[in-house]
Amino acid sequence: MTATYITTTIPYVNARPHIGHALELVQADVLARYHRGRGDTVRFQAGTDDNALKNVLAAGAAGLGVREFVDRNAEAFGALGGALSLSVDDFIRTSRDPRHRPGVEAFWRACSGDLYRRQYTGLYCTGCEQFYRPAELRDGRCPEHGTEPEQVSEENWFFRLSRYAAPLREAITSGRLRIEPAGRRNEVLGLIDGGLADFSVSRPADRAGGWGIPVPGDPAQVVYVWFDALCNYVTALGYGQEGPARDEAYRRWWAGAGNRVHLLGKGVLRFHAVCWPAMLLASGQQLPTGIFVHDYLTAAGRKISKSGAGSPAGGPSSFEPAALAAEYGADAVRWWLLREVPRVGDADFTVARLVARADDELANGLGNLVNRVVAMIGRYRGGLIPAPAPVPPGGADLDAAIRLAGDRVGTALAGFDFRQATAAVWAIADEANRFINHARPWALADSGGQLDAVLYLLARACSAAGRELVPFLPDAAARITRQCTPHDGRLPAPSPVFRRLAR
Ligand SMILES: [Zn+2]
Repeated sequence: MTATYITTTIPYVNARPHIGHALELVQADVLARYHRGRGDTVRFQAGTDDNALKNVLAAGAAGLGVREFVDRNAEAFGALGGALSLSVDDFIRTSRDPRHRPGVEAFWRACSGDLYRRQYTGLYCTGCEQFYRPAELRDGRCPEHGTEPEQVSEENWFFRLSRYAAPLREAITSGRLRIEPAGRRNEVLGLIDGGLADFSVSRPADRAGGWGIPVPGDPAQVVYVWFDALCNYVTALGYGQEGPARDEAYRRWWAGAGNRVHLLGKGVLRFHAVCWPAMLLASGQQLPTGIFVHDYLTAAGRKISKSGAGSPAGGPSSFEPAALAAEYGADAVRWWLLREVPRVGDADFTVARLVARADDELANGLGNLVNRVVAMIGRYRGGLIPAPAPVPPGGADLDAAIRLAGDRVGTALAGFDFRQATAAVWAIADEANRFINHARPWALADSGGQLDAVLYLLARACSAAGRELVPFLPDAAARITRQCTPHDGRLPAPSPVFRRLAR
């Protein structure tokens, strides 16, 4: 059994979650469920980055204490697990989790050979919590936020990133550290070849308002939030702790021979594919095996701002994933994210698109198919699925869609292509509906042999759809499987597996 460890990034909690966060969580959940279904042992981890300076500033703006503000938002992120039917095994909060701080301190000490103090003056974007070199700015502004960075001069601890260019390059080009899609891999190689400057890994404690983890042995400084946050991938496994906790989880999920896969957005690629692997090398640890990078969502044509794009004045944002799932169902939200967001390139979310996609493919396509097939088997065969029979005329394409779906899904997910993967499942429903129109079972009702063959193939199609859908829409998959599984030899009476969303 392969041990597969899958993580999402841990978002800042300076605001409530938006639909962009749901994308990464749902993608990771699909991979986790898929690998579990293959018999791998899987640990799926998510969490929140509580220690960001940005949280401190947002709390101040909201007139709340940092602790209360952070707790409130972090809770909303944790609640996404239930709202979106996520199979999260572990949820780490960097400010509250007792595993985190000792792990960060141990990580810091393990890197001490590459840490040094120096005076630094640079252009700092608080939104990104990072220094920018002038050449990296766009018209003097942060490429992520479009804001002017402030000039900051202070004494900080630095990490000797410059030492790690060659080993990082080797890990990536050898495939030991796989970065997908290829464009992102090339981007990282470009960053490495462009020269890696040492990066600052601490902040003066007073500028951080006392929030954050003090640097071991230097309490006037707190550990830079990125160094702190990245450590979560191993602190949650017990890194830096004494005793059996570390022995078991850390050895199994990080120090072993399995998969270690990080999912992340393009904006934090540099931290995850350059800084983090270098930190791991410096501290004598293994590298991740895979880094999967998604692009961004816009909402109704606008960049999603953390302050709530499109939210009606005073009300909750209409792009909050939990609110969307409550209104339209987790299946519909997940299906839109998986079916419409391309592997490369940004995608625009609107409620109208979510509703149209769900009604077209789930209610009308898949739901209608299951309902018709179960109804026909009830009407013509008293609910008994006919015995296996050769593929009837006109059924070859459907038969192929059923047989190939598993491999197609596997290949697509190995390449981090969720649209391709869901297309393989959708093809079953699409071909089955086409086949019904071609075979016209209602016109065959009297000629026994052929009707049996038609109904048998259609029953196979529905069962296959239920089975292949498990990683993508676990709730719907369970409903479909229930509809297609005989009870005391007979299929249950048909009942809708999806409701129609359009009003
Ligand atoms: Zn920025």
